[in-house]
Amino acid sequence: MANVLVFTELHDGHVKPVTLEILGKLAGQSADVAVIGDIGADQVAELAKFGAQNVHKIKGANLDKYSPEGYTNALADFIKSKSYDYVFAGATSMGKDFLPRLASKFDAGLASDVTNFTMDGGVFAGTRPFFSGKCLAKVEITGPKPHFVSIRPNALGMTANPTAGAGAAADAAGNAGEIRAMIKEIVKAASTKTDLTEANIIVTGGRAMKNAENFKILEQMADVLGATVGASRAAVDSGFAPHAMQVGQTGKTVAPSLYIACGVSGAIQHLAGMRTSKVIVAINTDPDAPIFTKADYGIVGDLFQIVPVMTEEFKKL
Ligand code: FAD
Repeated sequence: MANVLVFTELHDGHVKPVTLEILGKLAGQSADVAVIGDIGADQVAELAKFGAQNVHKIKGANLDKYSPEGYTNALADFIKSKSYDYVFAGATSMGKDFLPRLASKFDAGLASDVTNFTMDGGVFAGTRPFFSGKCLAKVEITGPKPHFVSIRPNALGMTANPTAGAGAAADAAGNAGEIRAMIKEIVKAASTKTDLTEANIIVTGGRAMKNAENFKILEQMADVLGATVGASRAAVDSGFAPHAMQVGQTGKTVAPSLYIACGVSGAIQHLAGMRTSKVIVAINTDPDAPIFTKADYGIVGDLFQIVPVMTEEFKKL
């Protein structure tokens, strides 16, 4: 059995779902959770349900807002005071930013953007996509411990941990150390929708949307489904949608349960960001569009006719 620390990020005071995915998958290991800042008893209870033994709330000056240096310094100090074999975090924007820095502080190995793993005998063995998802590599980490692992959100799925953890919450002093670049203000995006990287359902529009106004039909479908709207790079470059909505190699990597691609051709760079989606539905007028080679369900037709009809049908469910 391995001693594991799972770092959890907060979103509006709630732990990010990828933390629960990781904890569920760590069933059989001894798993603690670290959070920078405070979380409520209900959040601690949720973590315990998924197997968290101890929940360490790391608090200190200059840790109220995320900074890569502050978080790295505080977590490094904390980890040094314990004896963890592995440190896990979500491969979110934040996780991708600070986890390599943290691993380098320990001169330790990092497996990043892992989509599945086993812990047989307490030893990590993971899988991660390479070359835009064209091949899957098996990854192991050697060298000094702790070893560091980041997990792609939505990739593992929520598996309940059969054994609840103690969920013992305690404060720990955090030292942010010297911070050379500090975030002064965080301006929230207008959208209240789930971030693309964590969305369970995504409706994406491509160049065929023609303009920003037409994205409304995707928003309407997304509202009915509880989905988040994404865009191809062609749609973003054409000014139909902001870059934050871009899915693909130079956008966001997503792994929702359902991905509905509307008027997206399926270029390799787009597939790179969404090919690990569980179910892919494509709507395209061109029966030879490459997206159909990856789609589980394909509809050959005009999205402007099909999307409103689908929205009306979804409303009946
Ligand atoms: P198109 O390829 O023009 O496809 C539009 C599709 O809509 C066509 O298949 C057409 O048949 C269909 N269509 C037209 N009208 C209708 C209609 N009425 N109803 C239904 N279907 C219709 N792309 C990304 O998406 N994400 C990235 O992160 C990304 N990164 C890149 C990085 C690099 C280095 C490079 C070189 C390229 C990158 N690209 C990326 C761009 C990528 O190569 C494609 O150009 C882009 O994905 C095409 O977007 P699209 O499918 O919306 O447009």
